[in-house]
Amino acid sequence: MLNESQLDIVILGGGISGLWTLNRLRQVGYNTILLESKKLGAGQTRYAQGIIHGGTKYALSGQMNAAAQAVSKMPARWRACLEGEGEIDLSEVKILSNHQYLWSTQKVTSRMAGFFASKLMRSRTASLKVADYPDAFKSPKFRGQLYQLDEPVLDTASLVEALAKPYSDYIFHIDSEDLKFNHLGGEEGWLLQSGEQQIKTGAIVITAGEGAEQILLKMGQTTPSMQRRPLHMVMGRGGGIQHPIFAHCLGASSSPRLTITSHRDGHGEMVWYLGGALSESGVGKSRDEQIETGRREVSELLPWIDFSKTEWSTLVVDRAEVKTSDGSRPENPYVDFNNGVITAWPTKLAFAPLLADQIMAQLKRHSVMPSEGEGALDLEHAEQAPLPWQEEGRWSES
Ligand SMILES: Cc1cc2nc3c(=O)[nH]c(=O)nc-3n(C[C@H](O)[C@H](O)[C@H](O)COP(=O)(O)OP(=O)(O)OC[C@H]3O[C@@H](n4cnc5c(N)ncnc54)[C@H](O)[C@@H]3O)c2cc1C
Repeated sequence: MLNESQLDIVILGGGISGLWTLNRLRQVGYNTILLESKKLGAGQTRYAQGIIHGGTKYALSGQMNAAAQAVSKMPARWRACLEGEGEIDLSEVKILSNHQYLWSTQKVTSRMAGFFASKLMRSRTASLKVADYPDAFKSPKFRGQLYQLDEPVLDTASLVEALAKPYSDYIFHIDSEDLKFNHLGGEEGWLLQSGEQQIKTGAIVITAGEGAEQILLKMGQTTPSMQRRPLHMVMGRGGGIQHPIFAHCLGASSSPRLTITSHRDGHGEMVWYLGGALSESGVGKSRDEQIETGRREVSELLPWIDFSKTEWSTLVVDRAEVKTSDGSRPENPYVDFNNGVITAWPTKLAFAPLLADQIMAQLKRHSVMPSEGEGALDLEHAEQAPLPWQEEGRWSES
């Protein structure tokens, strides 16, 4: 027997973008559900380092343009949510660190002095006294400079959980192979079919990360085009890895040489998750080569820590974004409306609130309004994906 339902909006993809958007749309009365083909957070979201960027990276490379201004507003918006006073209650989200830090090695300290002489950088960063250094940097051998950034770092598992909780009744698992799309024409919207379930919807919002490409293809849409930018991340645990680090290390270029965040594996042991230039230059390297590069980097940059007993692993993951002419990172979140279909990529987890604003503005502009929905849904609810370091089984000593 067919199950039929009529909705305002169907969101495809349950990462940070889809979940944030579901919250905002339901708050204002849209009859919306979210369909996830794997598990919530299973895409880029669970691989994110969880840094709520405030644009320091842009400022360091001298690009204080509109995009940098937009991202600079994100930490305050997130902090309001984390305090339970923002647009979504994120007071149950685990804050791994109230601040991301920025450190320079002795070699580049003189160049840093120039950056921090600028008023702009002074408003975003605080230089720290040695007594206030995080424990991992409290060594007489540390000769660089350490700065505190206004960028909180979040545990993405508790973030996904907090976003899914208020509207869990509206979040379902779907077999993406089985899902069919029919455009009903005009303002009628779309008919989605999966097995015995039929869903008529005024609009579709695709927040499926790299899955968007396949969905658009199935819908017969050739735009927008997507690009993948891979990263080869390194994880280390045990040995000298005892204290958490949340920091970018500034190297010779204006983008971070190394970005470290700290998490706990399935046994509660601390894991350092290493990204930045290390993960970009490591694409194409074998797992062993990348482990060796990561080990060398931390040994050189943090010589007072003993890594001889540390275990290592790596993972390769693609960032999915709208295609840019030169393949570089898009500066802003991207939202496109075409034939009742919104395709959205945030570029950064930190941009999720702005992405949802832009999705809502597009719906309004195209007169997709909240209505009384009807009908039954006979679908299973979606589970939540574990974090990569919690399920990693291949740790090797270097
Ligand atoms: C290693 C790494 C580190 C990062 N660190 C940071 C950081 O510290 N700070 C920051 O701001 N950003 C960071 N980012 C970027 C950030 O992770 C992404 O911009 C963000 O998570 C994208 O979220 P999303 O919800 O749009 O997509 P995704 O998280 O990719 O979610 C897409 C979801 O859609 C589902 N899906 C796919 N196909 C279908 C389908 N056909 N039907 C239904 N569902 C489908 C997937 O299973 C997935 O759950 C990082 C990215 C990477 C890769």
